Amino acid sequence: MSEGSQPEPLRPASVAVIGGGISGLTAAYELAKAGIACTIVDPKPALGGVIRTENAGGCLIEAGPDSFLAQKPWALELIKEVGLGDQVIGSNDHRRRTFVLRDGRLIQIPEGLQFMAPTRIAPVLKSPLLSVGAKLRMAAELLRRPSGARPDRSVAEFVTDHYGSEVNEYLAQPMLAGVYGAEPEALSVNAVLPRFVEIETRYGSLSRGLMAGMKQARSTNGPRSSLFLTLRGGMQTLTDALAARIAGKAKRVQGRAVGLERTNGRWTVQLEDASVDADAVILALPAYESAQLLAPIDSEITGPLRSIPYGSSITVGLVYERPAFTHPLTGFGFLVPRAEGRLLAACTWVGTKFDGRTTNDRPLLRAFLGGTKAQERMSHTPEKLVREVDAELKQLMQYSADPVEWRTAVWDRAMAQYPVGHAAIVAHIRGREAAIPGLTLIGNAFAGIGIPDCIRLARRAVRPLTGATAG
Ligand SMILES: Cc1cc2nc3c(=O)[nH]c(=O)nc-3n(C[C@H](O)[C@H](O)[C@H](O)COP(=O)(O)OP(=O)(O)OC[C@H]3O[C@@H](n4cnc5c(N)ncnc54)[C@H](O)[C@@H]3O)c2cc1C
Repeated sequence: MSEGSQPEPLRPASVAVIGGGISGLTAAYELAKAGIACTIVDPKPALGGVIRTENAGGCLIEAGPDSFLAQKPWALELIKEVGLGDQVIGSNDHRRRTFVLRDGRLIQIPEGLQFMAPTRIAPVLKSPLLSVGAKLRMAAELLRRPSGARPDRSVAEFVTDHYGSEVNEYLAQPMLAGVYGAEPEALSVNAVLPRFVEIETRYGSLSRGLMAGMKQARSTNGPRSSLFLTLRGGMQTLTDALAARIAGKAKRVQGRAVGLERTNGRWTVQLEDASVDADAVILALPAYESAQLLAPIDSEITGPLRSIPYGSSITVGLVYERPAFTHPLTGFGFLVPRAEGRLLAACTWVGTKFDGRTTNDRPLLRAFLGGTKAQERMSHTPEKLVREVDAELKQLMQYSADPVEWRTAVWDRAMAQYPVGHAAIVAHIRGREAAIPGLTLIGNAFAGIGIPDCIRLARRAVRPLTGATAG
């Protein structure tokens, strides 16, 4: 699908969807709704990709994503459409405090920050998180004037330019590491922070632009909803509901696609011990997997697909018991800057962020490892991971209780990381894709890694196949 162009109307009789994460499931759901025969192929026993909810010791533990941004409406729209609207719960934003580790101490992020940009100066000035020099630099940013549109840069360059390197190291870096598992030097500001780039172009100063936007929002909007939304029974409720909606309409094949062929306008998907024929294919895979499958069909699409890097991550959910566990958990959790040289990238205090995940006497922590720290531990046993993570948490949060239950989840190269120049890479891929009839590429490599973005892309991409009009 090339965004902005009008695709040729084409209604295939059959479609093979390769990859059964939220992207592939959403596509299959749309095809099933339109009455198009569809086969969904994924090697895992359960559909849902990285979305997986587990229950342990009476707690609900998310192995992958725990929520989605309320600001982006596309997940909520789909959730309501599949009948789960009454299952949606919001984050407890009245209890939202996030801490950052600095010199071994957990220090609260000052109020009024939007990502790393202050919209109130007084809390920043009072905070012990940053040095006096960094605070003065943050305040001085208010004086910046617009200097016109600029070429794509790394997030690190952008943040350092506005607020200095300390803000990059102690705010931007840990915040991005917790979302992308990537470093700000490696990420495209145009792809990852497009709203900030727009504000920079218009106002020069991010802080002044954000303050102007907030003033306008206060005068036009009603009450604010929560920042994050999730489902009462966990994020897997959504993928289970989609799987149930397509059951009986779409065929499910459990297997790994290892090859693709296109002969006389028909596609054949080779699996390890079977094959699937279809008029069209939707690849809802990590970009490097799509590159592998498309290599015999278009050698020029593989380079740009492979140039989108993927990061690995590990989540460890740990359940403790009070009174042995003594930390008060007064906030959503903490972030760990790489400059602190620790194992963890972030930790969520789950029971504070969302209701219904655990009880007061069973604190639930969810630790997140990313980047090389995660990559080096892909083959560690769950016991070893839990030992290491629990030891670091004990040190940082100052408690001595041992976990009574735990779950680990290892995600090998599952998070796309948008490099500088990402928009040009995607435009190139879309150009090649448009020249291959019956091919659609979706997934988290292209238009946002968040669940709402993946859903939006999947629904838009399927429209030309089903003949549906824009909605
Ligand atoms: C730990 C973690 C936490 C996250 N937290 C959040 C969050 O809180 N909020 C948010 O909005 N987003 C979050 N994300 C991002 C978001 O969850 C993902 O970007 C999104 O779910 C990706 O969906 P997908 O369907 O594109 O890919 P995936 O879920 O990765 O699915 C791809 C599927 O393709 C299958 N596959 C791979 N190769 C083949 C092959 N050759 N043949 C057939 N099938 C194949 C895989 O088995 C997999 O099921 C998080 C991601 C991770 C990993």
